[in-house]
Amino acid sequence: MTNYVLSIVIPFYNEEESLPELHRQLTEALTSSGQLYELLFIDDGSTDRSREVVSVLREADSHVRLLSFRRNHGKSAALSVGFRAARGRYVVTIDADLQDDPSEIPNLIKKLELEEGYDLVSGWKRVRHDPLTKRIPSRVFNRVTALLSGIPLHDFNCGLKIYRSEVTRGVRVFGERHRFIPVLAHMQGFRVTELPVNHRRRLYGRTKFGIYRFIAGFFDLITLLFRMKFLTKPLHLFGSLGLICLVFGLAILIYLTIGWFHGRWIGNRPLFLIGVLGIVSGLQFFILGLLGEMIAEGRTPEELPLREDSDIQPPEGG
Ligand code: UDP
Ligand code: MG
Repeated sequence: MTNYVLSIVIPFYNEEESLPELHRQLTEALTSSGQLYELLFIDDGSTDRSREVVSVLREADSHVRLLSFRRNHGKSAALSVGFRAARGRYVVTIDADLQDDPSEIPNLIKKLELEEGYDLVSGWKRVRHDPLTKRIPSRVFNRVTALLSGIPLHDFNCGLKIYRSEVTRGVRVFGERHRFIPVLAHMQGFRVTELPVNHRRRLYGRTKFGIYRFIAGFFDLITLLFRMKFLTKPLHLFGSLGLICLVFGLAILIYLTIGWFHGRWIGNRPLFLIGVLGIVSGLQFFILGLLGEMIAEGRTPEELPLREDSDIQPPEGG
């Protein structure tokens, strides 16, 4: 079997004008590196001539492989199919719209190889050529993600990244989680860093993600953080919330009861409602947490990739 060094994963959705130029720039950047590589073009259900364009490229260049969805499934799905098909020791992802610069790939490789122990190097579009309506919310998004996840990156969702193949085999990218691959990798103990990269204006076609991306991204972040901490112990979160509500409600009711013994009527006091609400929601949190524990039963925090040098016993009788 051939030992591929590099697999370049290129998800595309209606990028017919950019693809030939992208192929040219990739070829230029990679042949100078002198390494064995493959170009994995993932067609995410394009409805323009993108697929035909790549087919033509494939005729002329044996580095090119084309994988096509029958319909649009989103960038995360496209990436995860690319990750599965990749044969290289290192996997590079790059957007197909020419906004990422292929000539940065050798720098990414260098960073991965030189700086001891990094498993993922994420591009950082330090000078970004996108409209302000995208740059500002994106900055907020990145700040919040860095703060809450504790990973000091400036640009989580850069299309240009390099991974050791253990990472691409370990992370599960679905839904719209491509925005959080560094977080997913970090959750599994991989070491993540970043490198400033050149970014370019979009010349052809248009962006596939509207402003809703930021709301969606926020939901995904909540999910991930919850999973990161409480996947296998949901009661620790819901129980704490329940306890707060219960203590709060109980304190109010005790206060009212003492008043009642002193002859103050309870039934018409707003505080009474709040106290009852505290008890009821406290109990509900507990029940939710216990249900969560039943769902979590027997789960380990997902696919826990072992280090490459682990001694794994072959299965009995297998
Ligand atoms: N893309 C994709 N499937 C989709 C949407 C986008 O494969 O459903 C690809 C797209 O063709 C491009 C990359 O993902 O190669 C990044 O998309 P885009 O440039 O629209 O995102 P932006 O630069 O605006 O963040
Ligand atoms: Mg783009």
